[in-house]
Amino acid sequence: MEGDSISGRIAEVCRGLGIHDIGVADAGMWETDPLVSSRIGRGGRPRDLMPDARSVIVIGIPIQRTVLDTAPSILYNHLYNTVNTMLDQAAERIALELISMGHHAVAIPRDGYLGLAGLRGDPSAFFSHRHAAYLAGMGTFGYNNMLLTERYGPRIRLASIVTSANLPSGSPMDRQLCTGCRRCVRECPAQAVADAGYPEGITEKQGCVEISASFAAKGVSPCGRCIAVCPIGDDRCPSPTREAIDLIRSYVKPV
Ligand code: SF4
Ligand code: SF4
Repeated sequence: MEGDSISGRIAEVCRGLGIHDIGVADAGMWETDPLVSSRIGRGGRPRDLMPDARSVIVIGIPIQRTVLDTAPSILYNHLYNTVNTMLDQAAERIALELISMGHHAVAIPRDGYLGLAGLRGDPSAFFSHRHAAYLAGMGTFGYNNMLLTERYGPRIRLASIVTSANLPSGSPMDRQLCTGCRRCVRECPAQAVADAGYPEGITEKQGCVEISASFAAKGVSPCGRCIAVCPIGDDRCPSPTREAIDLIRSYVKPV
């Protein structure tokens, strides 16, 4: 099956799973793209994982603005966990589809780290979906170090599938989506977001991890403030009322 036909089949599988945001990066770009090759060292590149990798498929699921406006809350905590599960299951389904077509494929889990305890030791995953999505042309990086997309700003979660299939790929966008408005810098409760664009400005991850841990103890992680306040994206909608937000936020685990 040719690359276009494989892509068509993968898009069909994704639609059946409710996933409409898909990109493809050329696996060779981890060695050649200046930004990614300088940030992602050996071990974290697709061809370290799969030496015959030709393509990396990136799938995304948006985070609903209305839910994010209530964060930190049990509502956002539930959505976050559900979206992560959907992404992991979808990535496995896509990998199995590629394998059934005779290709090699590996689904990379949404969170490639050992939870909060692991993040305290080493606050990074073994594979960066953000950088894969950047190479696929799905968006660009913001001050908050997240991938910003035209449609959802940073309110999208990602997973990847590394494959030997040679698929038509995208390329990094030629304009920056981040306006440098610094809302994410000002609103971070841990003062963890650097006052500079990526990659010069790197989020201080330990501060972010400690905020996440304090919310996790109450059952309302993650924080999400730096993605809630970002003005990029076409997903604006009216916020819930103050009363609804206060009621939802009142549900926390006793600590
Ligand atoms: S998730 Fe919260 S604590 Fe972490 S960087 Fe964003 S705003 Fe700061
Ligand atoms: S809030 Fe402003 S500075 Fe931060 S990522 Fe979004 S556009 Fe960039």
